[in-house]
Amino acid sequence: MAEGQRAVLVVVGRDDDVRAAVTAALERRYGADYAVVSAAHPEDVAVPEGLPVAVLFGGLGDADPDGLAVLRELHRAEPLALAVAMIRWGAFETAPEIFEALTVGQLDRWIYAPEGPVDEEFHRMVAELLEEWSARQGGGFEAVRMIGHRWSERAQHLRDTFTRNRIPLGFYEAGSDEGRELLAGLQLEEPRLPVVQLRFRPGRPVLQDPTDLDIADAFGLLTPLDPAHVYDLVVVGSGPAGLGASVYAASEGLSTLVLEPEAVGGQAGTSSLIRNYPGFPTGISGNRLTFSAYLQAWGFGSTFHFMRSAQGIVAEDGLLAVSLSDGGTVRTRTVVVATGASWRRIGVPELEALAGRGVFYGAAVSEAPAMRGRQVFVVGGGNSAGQAAVHLSRYAEQVTVLVRRPSLVETMSDYLIRELEALPNVAIRGGVQVVGGSGADFLESFVLRDLDTGAETVETGVLFVLIGSEPRTEWAAGALACDRWGFLRTGTALLEDGVTPAWPLERPPALLETSMPGVFAAGDVRSGSVKRVASAVGEGALAITLVHAHLAARTGARA
Ligand SMILES: Cc1cc2nc3c(=O)[nH]c(=O)nc-3n(C[C@H](O)[C@H](O)[C@H](O)COP(=O)(O)OP(=O)(O)OC[C@H]3O[C@@H](n4cnc5c(N)ncnc54)[C@H](O)[C@@H]3O)c2cc1C
Repeated sequence: MAEGQRAVLVVVGRDDDVRAAVTAALERRYGADYAVVSAAHPEDVAVPEGLPVAVLFGGLGDADPDGLAVLRELHRAEPLALAVAMIRWGAFETAPEIFEALTVGQLDRWIYAPEGPVDEEFHRMVAELLEEWSARQGGGFEAVRMIGHRWSERAQHLRDTFTRNRIPLGFYEAGSDEGRELLAGLQLEEPRLPVVQLRFRPGRPVLQDPTDLDIADAFGLLTPLDPAHVYDLVVVGSGPAGLGASVYAASEGLSTLVLEPEAVGGQAGTSSLIRNYPGFPTGISGNRLTFSAYLQAWGFGSTFHFMRSAQGIVAEDGLLAVSLSDGGTVRTRTVVVATGASWRRIGVPELEALAGRGVFYGAAVSEAPAMRGRQVFVVGGGNSAGQAAVHLSRYAEQVTVLVRRPSLVETMSDYLIRELEALPNVAIRGGVQVVGGSGADFLESFVLRDLDTGAETVETGVLFVLIGSEPRTEWAAGALACDRWGFLRTGTALLEDGVTPAWPLERPPALLETSMPGVFAAGDVRSGSVKRVASAVGEGALAITLVHAHLAARTGARA
C-alpha cells in the first residue's frame, strides 16, 4: 500500500484481458489515491488492512458465468462498497442478468472494460462511482464545522440542511474528546450549542446556536431585495417543480426569484436513489439530480433567496405581493407555487417528543451512517419507505419495515418489494401499528400493536417514519382555494360548486392556475398531481408556458 492511498478498488474476474485492462486503467489514473487489488478468484483478493473498499468490479460473461454470485459474496463482506459488473463491449447476452440484479439491488452499476489505453467513457463512470462512494463516506474537506449534541433537534436540522445543500460539513459530538478539544480551541465562554464555524469565510466566523437567518447572513446570502423591483415571476419552493419552473423561466428571459427556506431539491433531494427519472438508466441520487438543476437555473439567471419562506400572498395594484419570513415583501407579475408536501406525523405524543432523537421523519439521509450496527424500523408501506429501507440496510444491522396493511403489494412498486425481499438484513412486518414509545434523551423503546390480535410488544431500535405526505399550503390558507386535504385546486377544479375563494374572472382559469389569477401551482402541492419527480419537473415547465400567456394577455390588455 503506497502512502496517501485512502481506499481500495477491487477487480475480480477470470477473463484475463478484461481484468488486465480494467486493472491497468485504474492503476494509471487512480493509483496515487487508491490501492488497486486484482485477482482471478475471490479467495485471492488481499485487501490491505485498514483501508475501506470503495468499488468492487466483478467480471461477468463467458469466463465468469457465476460473476454475480461472486460479486454478491464480496459485497456482503463490504456492504458500503459499490458493486459493479464489468463486461466486454458487446456481451449483450449478460443484459437480462444485469437488469435483474440492478432491479433487486444486488448490483449498483455495470461498466464496459476500457477499449484502448485511454477510454474516457470508462473513466467518466469510474469518477461517478468514486464521487458516490465519497459522498456515502463523508469526511474530507470541511467548509463548515459544527460541534453539538448528535441528537439535539436543532443540530440535526442544521446537519440535514447543510448536507442536502451539498455544503461539506464536519460534525463533532460535543461530548467526545475531539468535540471538547475543538470547543476549547475556539475559546468560547460557556458555548451555546450547536456551535457552527464557517471555515471558508475570512476570519472563520463562529456562530453559537444560530438561527437560519444568522446562517444565511454569515454565508453572505442575505442580500436585501430591492423593494421597488417587480419580478416577472416568483417561484415559491425549489423542489423539482420549482427547479423545473425556474430553469425554463430564466432560460426564456423572465426575471425570476426563487424562495427556499430549507434545501434545494425538496423531497427529491432526500432520496438516495431515483431510479425512474428518464435519462439515468442506473438511477441518480436525488440530491445530485436536483443540485444540478439548481446550478442550471442559477446559470440561466434565476435569483435564489435561501433560508426564507413565503408567508402569504395578496393581489394588489394589478400585481401580486408575496410576504416573506424575514419580514420583507416581494412584488411580482406572476407566481408559481411549488411548495410540495411534507411528511405526515405519526400522531403518538411520546414519539413526537422524540423527533430527531431516535424518531426521524423521511429518509434522513444524513443520519444513515449513524445507524451502523443498530436495529432500525421503517414505518410506512410506500415507495419512499421502501427506498429508505434499502438505503438504511447498508448501515444498520437489521431493518424492519412496519406496515398497517397485511402486505406491501398494494402500496409499493414491485421492483422495490423484490429488492427488499432480496436483502438478507431486511424484514417486513405487515398488520402492525406503532402506538406508543418512551425515552428520556433518545428513543429507548416503542410499542407495536398487532392489528389482528390486539397484542402489543415492546421493541427497541430507531424509527424512521415515512407514512405519506401533507401539502405545504398553510402559508396560503384562505388566499388560494384548496381541496379537502389542503392541496391547491387548479384549472377547471376551481369551477366546482362551493369552492372558496371562488374563481373571480369571466375567462376560465388556465390549466395550472389557482384561484388567484396569475398564480400557478406545480408539483406535489397541486390537487390531483401524480407525486413523481418527472411530473413535478414537467408541471414546472408547463407552468412557464402559462406564465408567458398570462404576461402576454396583461400586456395586450394594457395596450
Ligand atoms: C424519500 C423520497 C423518495 C422519493 N423517490 C422518488 C422516486 O424515486 N421517483 C419519483 O418519481 N419520485 C420520488 N419521490 C417523490 C418526489 O420526490 C416528489 O414527487 C417531488 O419531490 C415533488 O416535487 P415538488 O417540487 O412538487 O415538491 P417538493 O419536493 O416537496 O419541494 C417543495 C419545496 O418547497 C419548499 N417550501 C415549502 N414551503 C415553502 C414556503 N412557504 N416558501 C418557500 N418554499 C417552501 C420546501 O422546502 C421544498 O424544498 C420521492 C420522495 C421522497 C420523500
